[in-house]
Amino acid sequence: MFLRLLPLLALAVLPAAAAAPEGIPRELARQRAARVSEVRYRLSFVLAPGALTASGKEEITFTLRDTSQSLLIDFRDGRLAAMSVNGSPIAATIENGHVELPASKLRQGENRISAQFTTPIAAAGKPFTRFLDREDHTEYIYTLFVPMDASMAFPCFDQPDLKARFTLEIAAPRSWTIISNTEIEKTSDDAPQTRRTAFRETLPISTHLFAFAAGPFRKMPAAPGLPGLYVRQSKIPQALAEAPEVQQIAAQGTTYLSNFFAQPFPFPKYDMVLIPGFPYGGMEHAGATFLREESVLFRTAPTRTDLLNRDILVLHELTHQWFGDLVTMRWFDDLWLKEGFAQYMAYQALASLKPDDNVWKRFYEQIKPAAYDIDSTQGTTPIYQDIGNLQDAKSAYGAIVYSKAPGVLKQLAFVLGADPFRDGLRLYLKEHAYSNAEWSDLVSSFEHVSGRRLNDWAEMWIRHRGMPQVDVAWSCQGDRLASLSLSQHDVLGTADVWPIVTQVLLDDGADNQTTLRVDLSERSKSVPEAAGKPCPRFIFANDRDYAYGRFLLDARSRENVMASLGAMSDLFRRTLLWGSLWDAVRQADLAPRSYIALAADLLPRERDESLTQSTISHLATALHRYVPEHARKDLIPSLETIAADRMVNSPDPDLRIVWFRGLRALAETPAGLDKLKALLSGQLSVSGVELRPLDRWNMVTALIALGDPQANDFFDAERRRDPAGDGPKYAYIAEAARPDPQTKQKYFDDYLRNPSQSPSQPEDWIEDSLGAFNYWNQSALTEPYLKPALEALGQIKRDRKIFFLVDWLDAFLDGQRTPEAQAQVREYLRTAALDNDLRLKILQAQEELDRTVAIRAKFPE
Ligand SMILES: [Zn+2]
Repeated sequence: MFLRLLPLLALAVLPAAAAAPEGIPRELARQRAARVSEVRYRLSFVLAPGALTASGKEEITFTLRDTSQSLLIDFRDGRLAAMSVNGSPIAATIENGHVELPASKLRQGENRISAQFTTPIAAAGKPFTRFLDREDHTEYIYTLFVPMDASMAFPCFDQPDLKARFTLEIAAPRSWTIISNTEIEKTSDDAPQTRRTAFRETLPISTHLFAFAAGPFRKMPAAPGLPGLYVRQSKIPQALAEAPEVQQIAAQGTTYLSNFFAQPFPFPKYDMVLIPGFPYGGMEHAGATFLREESVLFRTAPTRTDLLNRDILVLHELTHQWFGDLVTMRWFDDLWLKEGFAQYMAYQALASLKPDDNVWKRFYEQIKPAAYDIDSTQGTTPIYQDIGNLQDAKSAYGAIVYSKAPGVLKQLAFVLGADPFRDGLRLYLKEHAYSNAEWSDLVSSFEHVSGRRLNDWAEMWIRHRGMPQVDVAWSCQGDRLASLSLSQHDVLGTADVWPIVTQVLLDDGADNQTTLRVDLSERSKSVPEAAGKPCPRFIFANDRDYAYGRFLLDARSRENVMASLGAMSDLFRRTLLWGSLWDAVRQADLAPRSYIALAADLLPRERDESLTQSTISHLATALHRYVPEHARKDLIPSLETIAADRMVNSPDPDLRIVWFRGLRALAETPAGLDKLKALLSGQLSVSGVELRPLDRWNMVTALIALGDPQANDFFDAERRRDPAGDGPKYAYIAEAARPDPQTKQKYFDDYLRNPSQSPSQPEDWIEDSLGAFNYWNQSALTEPYLKPALEALGQIKRDRKIFFLVDWLDAFLDGQRTPEAQAQVREYLRTAALDNDLRLKILQAQEELDRTVAIRAKFPE
C-alpha cells in the first residue's frame, strides 16, 4: 500500500498530510535499504538522576542514491525540538512515528541530519527504562530496543538491514558507570557532579543491537582475557561468590565458537551487564550483552540444572554475536534463524565443554515440550512468519522460534551430518559478515557444502506449520522380530507428509540394543532390515531425540516400558520414555492416575535431578488439573510424605532441593503445610542447602493461596525479614494469591493500568504475579476475570514487552479447567473482532484448557 502512496506524496503541494505509515512497513524498509547506505549516528544524551526525560543531540550522516522523493526517518515517543537537513531547518513534525525529510533539502551522495530532542524515561513502557534499587536507593537506566524501539529513543532508520556505525557520548553523574557496545574512548569531568563518557565508534550494527546501561554498576574483578561482567553495587557480594563461573563459561564458549565458526570474535570487546527485572533472559547487543540479573544471581537455591541453564543463557547470547550481530537477519521474519541457531549452538557448545552433563538429554527436556505444546494446536504458525510491519514483530516471538527452530535444526544436523552442517555455517558467516542475510542464503550454503538439495525439506519444516505424529507397528514370531513399519500423520489433520529421519530403538532387554536409522519421507514405510532381529520388549521411534514430532508408544511397548522403566540404566532413554508416557497422558490415552501411580513408585529411587524435577512438575499438573478433586485428595497425603522424606534423605543436595520444591508444589493438607511452616520457622531444614529468599517467599505464597490460618503471620514475618531488595516484589506476588474477591479486583486493576504512568508496578512484578493470581485452587475466584483478560489483549499487545502477552494468556486460561470456562473462550473467539495474531495466540493457549476438559471427561475417576 505504501508503494502506491509514495509518488503522490512527492507530488503533493501541501506537506504530506496523513501519508506517513504506522510502524515500519516492509515496503518502506525495502525502499530505504535500496536508497540509503553508509549510515553513521553520532549521539549524545544527558542523564540526570530521577529525571523523566533525557535530552538528546544527534548527527546522522548517510549516502543517498537519489533525491526523486522525500525520505522518512523514524522517531516516536520522544519530543523533537529541532531538526535540520544539510544545514537547513525543517519542520520538526512527527507523524505516525516518522519525520519526513523533504526531497528539496536532500542531496544525492552524502547527507547530514542534525536533531535535538528529548527521550522519555520510566519504569516501563518507555525507550529508557529506569530501575530503582530499594536496597541502596540508587537508580539504573538501560535501553532495550529490539525489535523497533531505537526509534522511540532517537531519530533513526530503524530496520535491521540499515546497519550503521554509532558513536555515543553520555553525560551522567560521576558515580555512574556507562557501558555500551564499544570501549570508552575518553571521559571528562566538565562540571563538579557530571562526567562525560565518550565511546569509540562501533562496527556496522543494526539499530536494535545498539544499547547502553548507566548507573552505579561495578565491574567484577577478573583475570585478563575474561569478558567484563557488570553488576549493580548492591549485588556485589552475591556476584563475587557466583558470577566468576559466568565469565569462565563465556570465555570457554568464545574459544569453542571461534573455532567452530572459523571466525574470531567479531567485535572489539565483550561485556555482560546484569540488569534487574530485565524482561527477557538476555539481549545480545553487539559487544554488550544484557542478562536478566535474576537468571544469573539466583533467587532460589540453585540445582545443577539451574547452573547449566545459566550456561545455556550465556552461550546463547554469545552465539548471537556471530549469528545475529555479525550476520543479521534482513527482516524479522527470519527471527527464528538467529534464535534457532543461538539455542542449538548453545547446547552444542555446552555438550563439548561439559561432556559429562548429558546436555542433549537436557535439550530434549528443556526445548522440545514447549515446541510440541504449541505445534499441536490450531494456533501454531510456521517457523517462518511473514511480518508485514515491524510493529508486528513482537508476535513472532515464542516457542516456535525458541524451541521448534532449534529442534528442527537438530534434525537438520542429523540429516546432513556434523561436518557439512558446520561447513555450511562457516560459509554463511563468511559470506555475509557485517551484513544481512536470509534463510535462503543459509540453505544455499548447506546445499553448496553438502551437495544435497534441501528445498523440499526446508519448504515443509520452515514454511509449513504443524508437526507429524509417528506410529509404530510390529510383530514377532517366536523370539524374532517378523515385521516393523512406521507411519506418520499430521497432528493437525492436514494431508501433509513430513520428511523425517529418525533413529528407531529396538529394546530386547539385553545390553546390545539395536538402533536403526530410518528415512521416513512417505506416509508409511516398512523397515525390512528389522526382520530377524531379537523380538524386542518395546520399540521407540525417536531414540536420541534426533527427529521432531510426537512419538507415542504402541500398546504393547507402553506396557513393557512401564514395567521396565525403573531398571533402565540409560538415562537419556529413560528420560525420553518418561516423556513419551506423559505425552500419552496429554493425549488422553493413558489415565493420569496410572502415570501418578508409576511416578509415586519409581521417583523416590530416581537419581537424576532434572528427570525428577520434570516428573514432579508433571505430577503436580496431573493432580491439580487432570484428576478429579476426590482423587487428588486420596493421592496427596502419600505424595506429601514421599516428598518430605526425599527432601531430607536424598543422597545428593540437588535431589534434596528438587524434592523441597516438589513438597512446596504438592503440599495442601494441614500436615503438608505444617512442613512448610517448619521450614520457614527453621525447625526443619533441607540438609546442606541454604534456602534463599524466593524459596521462602514461594512457601509463603503457597500458605496464602491455600488459606492456611497462620499464613498472615508468616507473611508479616517474611516482610520484616526481607524489607528491601526483592522483598517488596515477592510480597506483591504472594498477595496476588489471596483467595478473596477484593484482592483479585485490586490486582486486576493494577494489571491494566497504563504502564508508563505512575503509580504502576514494574512489568516484571506483574508478569511474575500472574501465576499466583491464578493459583491452581482458585478457578472459581478467577473465572470472572477470564473474559476481561481476553478483552485486554489488544491493550497488552500494544503496551507490554514481547513475552508478556503469552504469559498473560497462559496464566488466565490455565487457571481454568471446566467446560464452562472453555465455552467462554470459544464464544469469545467466535464473536470478538480479533487480528489474526491474537486469534492464533488464544488458540495456542486454549489447548491446555481443552486438553484438561477432555482428560477429565474421559477419566472421571
Ligand atoms: Zn536469542
